[in-house]
Amino acid sequence: MLLSDSSPGSVQAVGPLSPLACDPAQTRGRRFAEAAAPTRNAYQRDRDRIVHSTAFRRLVYKTQVFLNHEGDLFRTRLTHSLEVAQLGRSIARALGLNEDLVEAIALAHDLGHTPFGHAGQDALNECMREHGGFEHNLQSLRVVDQLEERYPAFDGLNLSFETREGVLKHCSRANAEHLERAEPGGVGRRFIDRTQPSLEAQLCNLADAIAYNAHDIDDGVRSGLISIEQLLQVELFAHYHRQTLDEYPDLSEKPRRLLYETIRRMLSDQVYDVIDTTRQAVAQAGVRTLVEARLAGPLVAFSAGMKTRSSELQKFLFAQLYRHPQVMHTTVQAQQVVRELFAAYVSQPAEMPADFAANANLHRSVPDYIAGMTDRFALREHERLTGRKLL
Ligand code: MG
Repeated sequence: MLLSDSSPGSVQAVGPLSPLACDPAQTRGRRFAEAAAPTRNAYQRDRDRIVHSTAFRRLVYKTQVFLNHEGDLFRTRLTHSLEVAQLGRSIARALGLNEDLVEAIALAHDLGHTPFGHAGQDALNECMREHGGFEHNLQSLRVVDQLEERYPAFDGLNLSFETREGVLKHCSRANAEHLERAEPGGVGRRFIDRTQPSLEAQLCNLADAIAYNAHDIDDGVRSGLISIEQLLQVELFAHYHRQTLDEYPDLSEKPRRLLYETIRRMLSDQVYDVIDTTRQAVAQAGVRTLVEARLAGPLVAFSAGMKTRSSELQKFLFAQLYRHPQVMHTTVQAQQVVRELFAAYVSQPAEMPADFAANANLHRSVPDYIAGMTDRFALREHERLTGRKLL
């Protein structure tokens, strides 16, 4: 006999769209006017444009934590983005927020990442120190606004304001003022006015953290760089590990299943925590419209307890995994690749494709070109230009 899932606990069934949700019919629109699509709303169309973009396909060969060639089962930027979209949509559905918008933001949120993850970003930022720096978040916006070349009448993907707003999750004051000059009242404005983005955008930020905290445990253990014994010092992990073993003592013989069940429970509880805490925050703030919500403080959040437990895990991963000597060793080499590519293209622009080489502002075209590279393309280019093979 086949059984259906039994009824859920505290999380209620899907209701109507919340009055705080972004409504595609009320979008602030695209930078270049386009006729509405006959079968899709504005956010569905944004999501589809992102999925078909070149930058999106490149995410499969971009590092999340482990380099692409270090193993077939580690997360890449692509699978990370899909996990963020999954978690984000689940939460959005429960809160009556716009799932399509959440999906579009989640799939686009890491499009501006350099090859080699944070190591690549730090190196490129260093190379660009005298020229305004490099920030992957701002670069994600550049990718969707300018760098994708797919449409006859405009650069970029011409996405809706709400999707672009969600992609730009942080921004310095200086960068915000720069954006504001180019697009008055646009996506940079909220960083000047210190207002909040849509609830869908707030949600994607949290879904990003929930996703990487969980999958980095899995990848960290798989790589052998962190052990279950170490993880048992982290309350969020230890609690669900203990709970799982109490319920299924046999899993002590099946460490992978035990790990997956522990992570699964951690994920579920964080999701339910966000849903419950956000409902309470919305009720407490008494906001009734999206305009009011933007003026309130952040509304999509963890409870205080979950926030503490989640930051403890984040700190653990930072110290034990991201700063692990083996990861640091690749980091140092990855940074060298990026620095040497940067120096090579600045001194010999003709080594870049013609449209990048032709740009009079090399401190714009070189970081754009490097940031767009996949890990393995960057390594091949580095070898071609320097004759040395790293990593
Ligand atoms: Mg991310």
